[in-house]
Amino acid sequence: PAHGEPLLQVEAVRKTFGGLTAVNDVSFAIAAGDIVGLIGPNGAGKSTTFNLITGVLALSAGQVRWRGEPIGGLPSREIARRGISRTFQHVKMIPDMTVLENVALGGYMRGSSGSVRAMLRLDREEERRLFAEAERQLARIGIADRMHEMAGNLALGPQRLMEIARALCTDPALLLLDEPAAGLRHKEKQALGDVLRQLKAEGMSLLLVEHDMEFVMGLTDRIVVMEFGTRLMEGTPAQVQASPAVRAAYLGT
Ligand code: ADP
Ligand code: MG
Repeated sequence: PAHGEPLLQVEAVRKTFGGLTAVNDVSFAIAAGDIVGLIGPNGAGKSTTFNLITGVLALSAGQVRWRGEPIGGLPSREIARRGISRTFQHVKMIPDMTVLENVALGGYMRGSSGSVRAMLRLDREEERRLFAEAERQLARIGIADRMHEMAGNLALGPQRLMEIARALCTDPALLLLDEPAAGLRHKEKQALGDVLRQLKAEGMSLLLVEHDMEFVMGLTDRIVVMEFGTRLMEGTPAQVQASPAVRAAYLGT
């Protein structure tokens, strides 16, 4: 994008499920190299917003632009190909496959339209390339030493890092993380924070849903606050922390 032009523009997006409006008229933008937090109470529409950006769900209204181009309505595989990747709120893995296999398979399945059958039809060269990329990404986030362990044997912290490695296999410019620190111990959160800061230093943009306010405040450049499907406010961590509306809606103080 041109200097100052946002990488991602979420423009008045809406999602309805039958009679329920899960996301209503939500707009925000992410500039290159930004870490943006998306916070709000349970059911506020954060995961649904991720699903709208990544094409997992169809927009009911509004538009999403990536480097200025509309991407609403594109299949998630194509959105991933253009440079937006994500993790899911609940760890998705095959527990009795190795970490390396999970990352390599995930790299292939990215965007969900691939099938295991298609995976089995990969030629040698393609398979070699997928595993090399998986190994490279595991090294990038510092868990290459665990790559031959069964994924199901890892603690939650390394499992979340494994998911990030998988999301990185498509070489994204923007990474969406849905509650990456939920349930992690303090040390694991610190390790995760270090990885996310490293990715930012490498030029990646990040959008992250997170409930741990200390974690969000210490990591993000800007925060978008959602409540009842709408954008309640957007600002710096300091502005958000000082907002009486946010305190009332979310912090419970
Ligand atoms: P958050 O991630 O902020 O906790 P979600 O985006 O998961 O919130 O959910 C927002 C609202 O949309 C909730 O009321 C939820 O029950 C509803 N919702 C989410 N996904 C679906 C779906 N696939 N079908 C019906 N309702 C859904
Ligand atoms: Mg959610």
